[in-house]
Amino acid sequence: MINNPELVVRNQRKLLMYVAKQNDTGCWVWQGQISNSGYGKVLLKSDEGNKMHSVHRAAFELFVGGMKKDDIVVQTCGNRLCINPEHLKAVDEIDDTYWKKSL
Ligand SMILES: [Zn+2]
Repeated sequence: MINNPELVVRNQRKLLMYVAKQNDTGCWVWQGQISNSGYGKVLLKSDEGNKMHSVHRAAFELFVGGMKKDDIVVQTCGNRLCINPEHLKAVDEIDDTYWKKSL
C-alpha cells in the first residue's frame, strides 16, 4: 500500500514517465519493464520500502484508489500494457470477456 501523499505524487510521476499515450485508442501504453505474464512491472517506493509492483495495479491504486486487497485490476480496453486510469477497472472476479478481448 502507498498511503503517504508525497510518495503517491512521486510514484504517479514515475508511471507517467514510462507511458506512450496513443491518440487513437486513448491507451497509455507502458514502456518500462514487462513481466513474464505480459504485464508491466515497476519498482516503486512504498510505505514498506522499495517494492516491485504490477504497474496496472499500481496505476489503479495511485490514480483511482479504493481497490480492495483481493481485487483484480483489468484493462477494459484489452491491452495488458495499458495503464490509463480510465481503462482500468477493479473487479472481484475475472469476467472472461476481458480475456477474449486481449487475445
Ligand atoms: Zn487502454
